[in-house]
Amino acid sequence: MKVAIIERGLFGGTCVNTGCIPTKTLVASAYAARMVQRAAEFGVAIDGTFSVDMKQVKARKDAISGQNSKGVETSLEKTPNCTVYRGHARFESPNEVSVGDARLISERIFINVGGRAAIPQLEGIDGVPYFTNSSIMGVDFIPKHLIIVGGSYIGLEFGQMYRRFGSQVTIIEMSPRLIHREDEDVSDAIREIIEAEGIEVHLNAKCISVSRQGDGIGAGVDCAEGAGQLVGSHLLLATGRRPNTDDLGLEKAGVSVDERGYIVVDDFLRTNVPGIWALGDCNGKGAFTHTSYNDYEIVATNILNNDPRRVSDRITTYALFIDPPLGRAGMTEAQVRKSGKKALIGKRPMKRVSRAVEKGETQGFMKVLVDAVSQEILGAAILGTGGDEVIHCILDVMYARAPYTVMQRAMHIHPTVSELIPTMLGELKPL
Ligand SMILES: Cc1cc2nc3c(=O)[nH]c(=O)nc-3n(C[C@H](O)[C@H](O)[C@H](O)COP(=O)(O)OP(=O)(O)OC[C@H]3O[C@@H](n4cnc5c(N)ncnc54)[C@H](O)[C@@H]3O)c2cc1C
Repeated sequence: MKVAIIERGLFGGTCVNTGCIPTKTLVASAYAARMVQRAAEFGVAIDGTFSVDMKQVKARKDAISGQNSKGVETSLEKTPNCTVYRGHARFESPNEVSVGDARLISERIFINVGGRAAIPQLEGIDGVPYFTNSSIMGVDFIPKHLIIVGGSYIGLEFGQMYRRFGSQVTIIEMSPRLIHREDEDVSDAIREIIEAEGIEVHLNAKCISVSRQGDGIGAGVDCAEGAGQLVGSHLLLATGRRPNTDDLGLEKAGVSVDERGYIVVDDFLRTNVPGIWALGDCNGKGAFTHTSYNDYEIVATNILNNDPRRVSDRITTYALFIDPPLGRAGMTEAQVRKSGKKALIGKRPMKRVSRAVEKGETQGFMKVLVDAVSQEILGAAILGTGGDEVIHCILDVMYARAPYTVMQRAMHIHPTVSELIPTMLGELKPL
């Protein structure tokens, strides 16, 4: 087929340029800094002082992201029958898209425009400088005191990394707990982990205001008269994302969006207009690179291989890349309780995982939920060293729809974090 791909910014999109890849590269630098700070615990003596060179940290991040972005761009340019257009794409009709002076007509159009940082309407926000997840990528210095509004995935990852680089960090969250979609025990353990590193956390901040305070930024977490103010040097807004669908001319194509601007799609990612599909963050069916990639697989196999894969076939899974990371699959404990299913639960603290003890990384716990009738695994959370990798052994058994006893009887490698999963499954109790 003859293909046109239109990109208005950097090739590779959010993940490659301002999301997963640069943040995990920075997380790796922050981990190195942390291990240097902890070196004496492991019997490693460091003679003299050490410092974090943010210019080098940024240069490493830019090199890794840049190489990736260039790789995507070059491979698209070299793809036979594919023409790369640079510019902003806009619908002119249901089968016509403009980019600059070009008008492209096609019987199949795939919308994959992603999203951008949502800017909350905080009192005073127009009068202060702030970073978003994109603009903070340009930082090559250590902010003295970073105030982060938002205590979920993005805020927590940046908060811990900048603390490890040497900033004072304060996280302000509107909900009663951090990362509030997770179970309460997960939120509480994450709070303990980040507070233990000296990050200040303010929860229940129902009314946040910001203002200039000399060279710094003031943040009020309570709008009541006389309420105190925090003062920091820099502000990061990490309060969620919004889809890039407001400037696409969707109305000219008749494509429906929901009240938050996400494009409405069915289980095969078809929009309401025949011949137009929507993939990735802009369809609201996921907010991760793996969900976007899975969207592509679903659309491609349906169109090219006559294989009816669906969005509803997939199991929710994601990670929070603080240290130690959280790996999640399937339902939370709260969701299982709400469902009324008869269920079993297993839980084990990382302190009782030999590998975690050997590595000196014993924060967190693992937990699994099992359907008491079918014996299938309903969900799991692994907050602890290796949690982002270990979760996959549970996820794959869930995809296989095998009873939990298969994994309970499997022999795992010693000493690993994964070896404790069969043990945990052998100690299930009624929920
Ligand atoms: C700080 C941060 C960390 C993250 N970390 C992770 C992680 O660790 N793991 C994970 O799975 N996910 C992570 N994510 C989420 C992940 O980046 C996104 O889910 C993923 O990039 C979505 O891919 P996409 O293809 O849907 O959209 P994007 O990657 O956003 O790509 C959309 C592309 O469309 C272009 N575009 C938009 N509108 C137009 C237009 N009108 N014309 C032409 N081009 C246009 C944009 O320039 C962009 O290049 C993170 C996100 C952030 C912000």
